[in-house]
Amino acid sequence: MKKITIIGGGPAGYAAALYANNFDLDVTLIESDVLGGTCLNRGCIPAKYWLHVAELNHEIENANDYGIEINQKNINWANTTNKRNEIVNKLVSGIGTLLKSKKVNVIEGWGQIESKNVVVVKKENGEEEKIASDYVLLATGSQPRGLPNLEFDNNFIINSDTALNWDEPPKKVCIVGAGAIGCEFASLLVDLDSEVTVVELEEEILPGLDKRTSAELRKQLTKRGVNFKLKTSIESVDNNELVFSDGEKENFDSVLVAIGRQPFTQNIGLDNVGISNENGFIEVDLETMQTSTANIYALGDIVKDTPQLAHVAFAEAIAAVTHIATGEKSPVNYSAIPYVVYTNPELAEVGTNSDKAKVNELNISQSQHSFVGVGRALIQNQNQGVVKVYAEENGPIVGASVCGPSAGELIHELMYMVGWEALPSEAAEFIHAHPTLSEAIGESLMSLSGKGLH
Ligand SMILES: Cc1cc2nc3c(=O)[nH]c(=O)nc-3n(C[C@H](O)[C@H](O)[C@H](O)COP(=O)(O)OP(=O)(O)OC[C@H]3O[C@@H](n4cnc5c(N)ncnc54)[C@H](O)[C@@H]3O)c2cc1C
Repeated sequence: MKKITIIGGGPAGYAAALYANNFDLDVTLIESDVLGGTCLNRGCIPAKYWLHVAELNHEIENANDYGIEINQKNINWANTTNKRNEIVNKLVSGIGTLLKSKKVNVIEGWGQIESKNVVVVKKENGEEEKIASDYVLLATGSQPRGLPNLEFDNNFIINSDTALNWDEPPKKVCIVGAGAIGCEFASLLVDLDSEVTVVELEEEILPGLDKRTSAELRKQLTKRGVNFKLKTSIESVDNNELVFSDGEKENFDSVLVAIGRQPFTQNIGLDNVGISNENGFIEVDLETMQTSTANIYALGDIVKDTPQLAHVAFAEAIAAVTHIATGEKSPVNYSAIPYVVYTNPELAEVGTNSDKAKVNELNISQSQHSFVGVGRALIQNQNQGVVKVYAEENGPIVGASVCGPSAGELIHELMYMVGWEALPSEAAEFIHAHPTLSEAIGESLMSLSGKGLH
């Protein structure tokens, strides 16, 4: 029986361990902290929990639009936090139970590659255990990146790990970076009645995503009170006062730095076997996930040039385990990965957009449909937003970007079209139920195929 050792019990590591159960593999998983990694403990789940609380608060504050009068509102932050802990603990213990049921040998401790077939585990009590195996899977994840003039102090200058453990949100916060994490915090904090400023070096929020839908999201967040300072940076900090590159100065209760994440690959023994990496990001053969040392694989946030997302980590785990177990290549289809920003409203994208198409010299046609006249969106008071779909000139659908209600769910319909290279005329044949939010996609596809309706 082939023996595999996995270092890291986040989405990449635990998915590899679970999937290995489909084959005849003997699996050991090493985790130095809590199972579930960033995603369950410091990322996707707690962040989406706070976004949900914020949306609920926003809905309650606007219930009057529907004639529902709520005279007294009080947020009991201790109870709010307890509910978050309950959800996180349930998911973390669920992973533990699943691993046990699939007979994965889970070891607590710090894993380090000693040689190409041996991993040393350093335990909290000082003991060391050596594990020999045929294959090693590295899945050690990532951590927040700081800035030289904004060092984390876990008090005034913080990162997302600290922010998600707030007992209560700060009254006035400056967020540095308008990527997905920065925008999600801006959205949830403004809906929890904090005063929010977002500083971004680029000319538009969500750099790399569709500029039109990103601008739509910025417009909507601005309307709710977020102050965006684009093409701006922070020059200096003096006590609680920030000095911006445009010369303005302002006091804040907290500064949340959200400028990206760096790989967590220090002290895991990369040099002991000479694994190629660039600033800690591990270079792999994307068809198999093998590193420069063929029996050692890398997955998840530590992989160079692939998106740092939990579902990408799952997919890379499946690709690596399949290759180990069967010798067959089943590469991740990186061109059809859904990317969701869980703001209110959500923004979601798949495949290419007009900027990426320009860079890749791809001739595309595009259609755009607004949520303004979509009945369901109007009922929900969320009829601002837009669906954009891209197709190759006289060719298949290659991308889509949606900013609007439930965009994170709607994008999956478009994901299949991109993945299966559907032609606009083929996709436009299907009928969307009325009244649904998906009708905006149906309309967009009809326009793209040259025969619009509304
Ligand atoms: C605020 C925030 C929100 C996010 N929201 C989303 C979202 O909505 N959707 C999405 O897809 N992604 C989201 N992400 C990203 C997502 O969390 C990561 O892409 C995902 O967790 C990566 O999984 P991973 O297994 O590669 O790494 P991690 O989740 O970081 O797990 C790595 C694990 O390895 C362990 N480890 C590290 N070194 C060692 C060692 N030497 N020995 C033993 N154990 C070790 C760590 O303790 C950790 O548990 C978010 C991230 C953040 C910060």
